[in-house]
Amino acid sequence: VAAVAESKLLAERIAQWRGPAETKDGHRVQLLANVQDGNAARIASDTQAEGIGLFRTEMCFLSALEEPSVDEQAEVYKKVLERFPNSKVVVRSLDAGSDKPVAFATMADEMNPALGVRGLRVARANEPLLTRQLDAIAKAVKELGRDENAPTWVMAPMVATAREAKWFAGLCAERGLVAGAMIEVPAAALMADKIMPHLDFVSIGTNDLTQYTMAADRMSPQLAYLTDPWQPAVLRLIQHTCEEGKRTNTAVGVCGEAAADPLLACVLAGLGVNSLSSASTAIAGVGAQLSALDFDTCVKAAEAAINAEGATEARQKVRDILQP
Ligand code: PEP
Ligand code: MG
Repeated sequence: VAAVAESKLLAERIAQWRGPAETKDGHRVQLLANVQDGNAARIASDTQAEGIGLFRTEMCFLSALEEPSVDEQAEVYKKVLERFPNSKVVVRSLDAGSDKPVAFATMADEMNPALGVRGLRVARANEPLLTRQLDAIAKAVKELGRDENAPTWVMAPMVATAREAKWFAGLCAERGLVAGAMIEVPAAALMADKIMPHLDFVSIGTNDLTQYTMAADRMSPQLAYLTDPWQPAVLRLIQHTCEEGKRTNTAVGVCGEAAADPLLACVLAGLGVNSLSSASTAIAGVGAQLSALDFDTCVKAAEAAINAEGATEARQKVRDILQP
């Protein structure tokens, strides 16, 4: 009975929660939504999301046989941007390949597509594919009259080296776009000090960062115990990324599923993550949890998780600290 009453109370707290998100003592964490099209953006705009932290553009083209023209792409991007006319939207360049095959961009018959020519790597052999997309994003921004009150940021998926980051940032700068990279390859987390100087922001993709850190396919149900973002190895890479973000004054967000877990969100805030982007349905739960804690408690939870022996232990220790 006590458990039922408690979960009813929690549901009420979540329903009543209003953003912007902050801890009890006023430490701000920006909560953003992950979307894949105009419809998802419309739904997100009815939540407490402060903007969009990940627009998965490849999802718009999963059934397209040919590459849409710059004009056609601009129309697709506008449908998302116009739902957040006064807030930040982070657009990700095509993350084609592996679990998200796009007919006009994915390489056929690779032995290991998750380790293959996916994400930004596709554009190495086909730079015009990327520059046409960047042109389309710039066109959408211009036609909607978006300005610094509605910043549009662009980030590349699957960046592994500083050279890739520099190349992408250069193409964005030519079009007046703010450039960032996803940190989802362990090498990128480890080389954050060399990658960040080329960029304005990074966003940690915990789904792939976990897959590649643990060498475990994110689609495999048998390996779910490894593809768990509570794995301390993953949290240590996030910790390192946040430290370098602070040192180089680069904004660090998280846009993987980890950002949807209220307890893990507190750990991420404690590690120094500035923004969390998740499915818009998860935002109120995360916001309500953050509002119940002081920032110091988030830092303690983060320390406990980092120093745990494994994912199960990390989750349990943090539960003991945050929900005594
Ligand atoms: C991720 O890898 O965590 C991420 C957000 O990107 P996607 O899930 O689209 O690969
Ligand atoms: Mg990813």
